[in-house]
Amino acid sequence: MNCQDFREKMFLYPEVDEEFFTHLRNCDECRREFEEFLEIEKKLKEKVNEEDEIVREWDRVYIKVLNTLRYEKIKRQVYIFILLLLEVFIFSLVFIIGYRLVRFFIQNPSLFVLTLKSLFQIFSQFNFYLFVILLLVFIYQTTKLHGKYK
Ligand SMILES: [Zn+2]
Repeated sequence: MNCQDFREKMFLYPEVDEEFFTHLRNCDECRREFEEFLEIEKKLKEKVNEEDEIVREWDRVYIKVLNTLRYEKIKRQVYIFILLLLEVFIFSLVFIIGYRLVRFFIQNPSLFVLTLKSLFQIFSQFNFYLFVILLLVFIYQTTKLHGKYK
């Protein structure tokens, strides 16, 4: 086996025959070449392993993100369900109260007029109460500011 043959067979390593090792033992130059080849191969393997590690890491992150998204989706569905229940509950409550009020006023028509009058009174006084509350808030804020800059 000559050096040319050896270098061609080198790339088939470790599937080589006895002749290959015989040349390796006897030729210094080819031995150096072969050692370099092994070194490069080792580095390539390490690089492939590193990339595998990156792929695995990415898989982990991906699964985590996916799980988070699933969790958020379930959470949203639960929220929507609770909101729907709440809506049904409030609607039923309004319906029941409305029905009872209508039935009550049908049985007592004179009370209906009286209630309307009272409501009108309350609403006309509402502006006054609003004014008083705003005035109190204004006084509170002013005294607080005053105390702050004293
Ligand atoms: Zn050689």
